[in-house]
Amino acid sequence: MLHLYNTLTRKKDIFSPVETGKVKMYVCGPTVYDYFHIGNARSFINADFIHRYFRYLGLDVKFIMNLTDVDDKIIKKSNEEKVAYSVVAEKYSWAFFEDIGKLKIYPATMYPTATSHMQEIIDMIAELIKKGFAYNNEGNVFYDISKFNGYGKLSGKKIEELEAGSRVEVNEEKKGPLDFALWKKAKEGEPFWESPWGNGRPGWHIECSAMSCKHLGETFDIHAGGSDLIFPHHENEIAQSEAASGKPFANYWLHFGFLNIDSEKMSKSLGNFFTTRDILKKFSAETLRFFYAQTHYASPLNFTADALEAADSGRLKIDNLYFKLEEIVKDEDCDDSLFASNYASFEEAMDDDINTPKAMAVVFDAVRDINRQIAENKASAAYLASAKKFIRRTAGDVLAVLGEAKKEAGLESQLIELLIQLRLEAKKEKNYALSDKIRDRLKEIGVILEDSKDKTSYKLN
Ligand code: AMP
Ligand code: ZN
Repeated sequence: MLHLYNTLTRKKDIFSPVETGKVKMYVCGPTVYDYFHIGNARSFINADFIHRYFRYLGLDVKFIMNLTDVDDKIIKKSNEEKVAYSVVAEKYSWAFFEDIGKLKIYPATMYPTATSHMQEIIDMIAELIKKGFAYNNEGNVFYDISKFNGYGKLSGKKIEELEAGSRVEVNEEKKGPLDFALWKKAKEGEPFWESPWGNGRPGWHIECSAMSCKHLGETFDIHAGGSDLIFPHHENEIAQSEAASGKPFANYWLHFGFLNIDSEKMSKSLGNFFTTRDILKKFSAETLRFFYAQTHYASPLNFTADALEAADSGRLKIDNLYFKLEEIVKDEDCDDSLFASNYASFEEAMDDDINTPKAMAVVFDAVRDINRQIAENKASAAYLASAKKFIRRTAGDVLAVLGEAKKEAGLESQLIELLIQLRLEAKKEKNYALSDKIRDRLKEIGVILEDSKDKTSYKLN
């Protein structure tokens, strides 16, 4: 039974969706003003592990990720580049789609944008004003957090403490220091939309409330994002959505740990980042995914190039086996019961709050066992076909760490076979110095030759 750590309840809860067999999940997506970095990528990939696992479980998933396509950072960039804000947003939206495609991220059901949901946003703000949760101050509309009883329930923050320690700049237009903007009055040279409160544009928090409601309903299952979003973004979303609908908003709140670099959060503003595009020039998407899968989604993870190198070679063990299986499995007739305990262990790990490191370990245990069965010539055709399917379903379909290195892996095994052949010829010519050298050098690089009566096989260490 799937358990998820819920930031709202501060414990692992049994996952019980609103509608049996269906999952409705909303993940806060990028602000499209630049190429995204591998810290953002970690959050997107962690969301993808969850999305893919739901699909593996056969659930009917509606997965929504928004794009913030108008905001201060986009406007700043458009001013710097002397182009319309929409030119910036469009360019980086395409870059985002290109990059998540390269990262093997399973496409969301929909990627709604703020600018295409102005009516829904305006309607929700109007509802909040009508119900007394928001006020219009000469074209700027604010949410009055003192009117919402549950404010602070997600982050565990107390209003009084927040107010006391608040560095929120003094803003004469607001009633309380923590009140936040729902609608921002148009400024000279900024994009704007018409509204009952005059020309302006929406605040960031309201767009997620309006879009999640439109596409998933007032109450839905999972809301997720990086842990920097717990406060104020998600806290504010709850305040807006629950005040507007009078119903619970998302039932499960999942938050992803940061990718750090030298113990600091990787971020655009600190300048300590690598773009996903740059990393993908050196490492495969599968390697980056594998690196992330080795740490639980909620834990912090430190980025180093060495760790990524290590992930690269670790992952190859799975590829090598899979492509060996691709070559030797002729008959696809599987008997999944042969791998029942492997599937059960994999699911047990993923059911435990999407524990991908444990799930990876289950895959590696299977890889070791399958390699041994092959080396010992004990594997039946059904076993091999089922082994291939197990690796594909877990490392491939759910974790998506299985490479497309078919040719390379195929080439690698061909080269090993070639060396085995040359060693045999050296032996025949009684050139034992050379045949031993081939065996020893292969061993040094992790290829163990095993001689039996009539053939030499190999296994990878
Ligand atoms: P942004 O484009 O800044 O709104 O970020 C998009 C997503 O990436 C959000 O869910 C952020 O919480 C997440 N994010 C930003 N930086 C990091 C990081 N260093 N590690 C993990 N997730 C991050
Ligand atoms: Zn959001």
